[in-house]
Amino acid sequence: MNATTSATPTTLPSGADFGSLPLSPAVLANLQQLGYERMTPIQAASLPLALAGKDLIAQAKTGSGKTAAFALPLLANLNPRRFAVQALVLCPTRELAEQVTQEIRRLARAEDNIKILTLCGGTTMRPQTASLAHGAHIVVGTPGRILDHLSKQTLSLEALNTLVLDEADRMLDMGFAEDIAEVVRQCPAQRQTLLFSATYPEGVTKLASRFMRNPQEVKLTERHAATTIRQRFIEVKENERLHAVGLLLAHYRPVSTLAFCNTKQQCRELVAVLQAQGFVALELHGDLDQRDRDQVLVQFANRSCSVLVATDVAARGLDIAQLEAVINVDITPDAEVHTHRVGRTGRTGQDSQGERSGWAFSLASLDDMERVARIDTMQGSDSVWQPLADLTGATDAGSEPLRPPMVTLQILGGRKEKIRPGDVLGALTKDLGFDAAQIGKISVNEFSTYVAVDRDIAAQALQRLNAGRVKGKSVKVRLL
Ligand code: AMP
Repeated sequence: MNATTSATPTTLPSGADFGSLPLSPAVLANLQQLGYERMTPIQAASLPLALAGKDLIAQAKTGSGKTAAFALPLLANLNPRRFAVQALVLCPTRELAEQVTQEIRRLARAEDNIKILTLCGGTTMRPQTASLAHGAHIVVGTPGRILDHLSKQTLSLEALNTLVLDEADRMLDMGFAEDIAEVVRQCPAQRQTLLFSATYPEGVTKLASRFMRNPQEVKLTERHAATTIRQRFIEVKENERLHAVGLLLAHYRPVSTLAFCNTKQQCRELVAVLQAQGFVALELHGDLDQRDRDQVLVQFANRSCSVLVATDVAARGLDIAQLEAVINVDITPDAEVHTHRVGRTGRTGQDSQGERSGWAFSLASLDDMERVARIDTMQGSDSVWQPLADLTGATDAGSEPLRPPMVTLQILGGRKEKIRPGDVLGALTKDLGFDAAQIGKISVNEFSTYVAVDRDIAAQALQRLNAGRVKGKSVKVRLL
């Protein structure tokens, strides 16, 4: 692993001692007691900047030591003698909020009498309100419930000096963007803001630009070892190129595939060919307005679209967690762009050995061989080839057409109607009798809510939702 920050682009102080940081002797002693001997890479990259009071956008996953990377700065900003909420950590889920609270408690042992409260939905507000009335220094919670307390004025953020957004990408996935914005509006402008996210989709950068001051970026870039992404080149004649994409999909059956074309025209043609073959394929292109773009991305991210077809420009800023395959429908003339395309797969999928794995297929005609040679040089290895005739998935006896596991239902009504993900989940599970395991991602946009459901229950869910209620109101629902 290799850490870069915009402030210190070349050094990697990972493994450095906590003693090199401006922390009090009591805090250092506590860290030693906890067995934290050396900083993890994310801590080594973030802590010097965060302890210097900078706003941070840090890329880190659970297990990386990210909690301490924001908890130590938040504690450093705290005045224990001031009985007011001075730090707020927003988390996507109750489980994470509880985990974060525990870790902050451990780290706060150095100081006595620091009060930390967890405020999440799903329980009554009254006991939380009573605890708040007794005073707390730090609040950890989910955006919806924090907002509830703010609107009831049972929580005040007037004395806040540190705001943390933990797992910002997941909070956005869950439709919390507007709730977060509302919470931020109630925070003092003078504060330190720390944003942690496992991935960097467009929305996270947008969110950050709305309310962070000159944030420093801390990224841990993992070099994708050649073994974790299986690359195959397939020789095609020009008139076989588009057809070969369907053959690859039928043969390898990836759940989510990003297919790159060099031109918009090619994207359009490929989508038409794939749709005619019965695949669920969508095009992401620059001419889409924001609403259509969101709708395409929602369907791809929630696994109800098998293939997203895009040019490099259209795919910029796109970050999809689970991507089983990338297909280079056209070989790019720029070897670096190729490496970038290929690196989008195999990020989070784990195979049985616990390794990240993904497929990257490249369709090359004889005219592309010069480009392939450049790619080989850049990657320092020879390309591995597979004959087109080996792709027999579509003709194998008994093979089913590739279908995405989920289907997206669009509920006409979104943030404007104050719909929250929990309302939709509650309607589907408590009221309409579906199992939570059959419900996928729920995305609340301004005017619409998108909910992914198992393909098997799609028709039933559509019918029951149309006949039932969400937030006590009847709603209009359609299949996307
Ligand atoms: P997190 O990614 O914040 O969920 O942390 C993962 C686990 O690593 C937690 O159990 C922490 O207590 C532990 N941890 C965090 N930082 C360190 C460190 N520098 N040395 C040892 N353990 C750590």
